[in-house]
Amino acid sequence: MTTLGKIRDILARLVAFDTTSRHSNLPLIAWVEDFLRPLGASAVRLTNPEGVKANLWVRIGPDVPGGIVLSGHTDVVPVDGQPWTTSPWDLVERGGRLYGRGTCDMKGFIALALAYAETFAAMKLAKPVHFAFSFDEEVGCAGVEPMIDAIVARGADPAIVWVGEPTGWTVLSAHKGIRDYEVRITGKAAHSSDPRLGASAIHEAVELLSVLRAIARACEASAPAHSDFNPSWTTLTIGMIAGGTASNILARECRFVFDVRTSPGTDADALLAPFFAEVEKVRSRLEPLGPECGVHVHKRADAPPLRIDRDSAAERFIRTLTGDNGVKVAAFATEAGQFQRAGFSAVICGPGFIEQAHQPDEFLAISELEKGIVIFDRFVKSLEAGA
Ligand SMILES: [Zn+2]
Repeated sequence: MTTLGKIRDILARLVAFDTTSRHSNLPLIAWVEDFLRPLGASAVRLTNPEGVKANLWVRIGPDVPGGIVLSGHTDVVPVDGQPWTTSPWDLVERGGRLYGRGTCDMKGFIALALAYAETFAAMKLAKPVHFAFSFDEEVGCAGVEPMIDAIVARGADPAIVWVGEPTGWTVLSAHKGIRDYEVRITGKAAHSSDPRLGASAIHEAVELLSVLRAIARACEASAPAHSDFNPSWTTLTIGMIAGGTASNILARECRFVFDVRTSPGTDADALLAPFFAEVEKVRSRLEPLGPECGVHVHKRADAPPLRIDRDSAAERFIRTLTGDNGVKVAAFATEAGQFQRAGFSAVICGPGFIEQAHQPDEFLAISELEKGIVIFDRFVKSLEAGA
């Protein structure tokens, strides 16, 4: 029997690990491994190259293709500078709500999955139930990729990927993708009275920025007539810029960042091709001026869009569990797009609401966990029926 008390106890343990993305998540991963060890589940750690963070891929049931993946990220966003009235790393119950960093986004879903692990392990499953617990989701969805590669390489071929991001247990079928870049241009300082003696990083930045603006305008001009997204088109914005030291000095350096939110069907590489062509032109002007001169483009986030697929196995399955038949799309990106890009049927559905995610006094209503028990009990019944 999975009870609310059991889920709450697990959630309290998970919240107590400060898994802010900049820290290691290994203590949490080790705790989950210890928790699952008595169940005889197969658990594979996929550690990052620095050896400080890991994904955990768990299989309960037979080692055969198919089955379902319950996916959740273990990292959380920082609490720095936020006016918390509770301690973020202690689970506190107040007025029917469980407060703590990550309760909603998304340790609540992980706690639910773990609380049912014993039930899954005790069943004669025809197909496996997998857990895919990742790191670095909050910093560009970068961490999960090696785990998806491993799932593909090992032929696990899950029929359904269930990403438990907070949706209030409604089904989210699609989201835009995210690309986020930082650009640093290094020119050569000189007195403004003779620009021939240097190269302004700002002037070169203007060339690149105008190409980005042209791409953004073209996206809006070719907006699809029908879309579930609002706005319907792929957006590109330049969020920050800095450079130069004085009006009479050619700027040695200029930095800027830009953000692209791609609609499903948009190929981000093709979209940005004119920008990267311009980067090459700027490089060819700057690089001959010295080894310090040039352009660096750093991709900070790359999460593909999740395309709606109403007839997919994941959509149909989660809709039977939740009874939700509405069509919703998300304004945020998740790992679901990456699973779908790898060829898996993926959908987003989980406890809590995105409005509480990333906030001070983040909470998960206990009623959301109670709904979760109803949904997971149906899930267990479907597994008993051999789904
Ligand atoms: Zn999340």
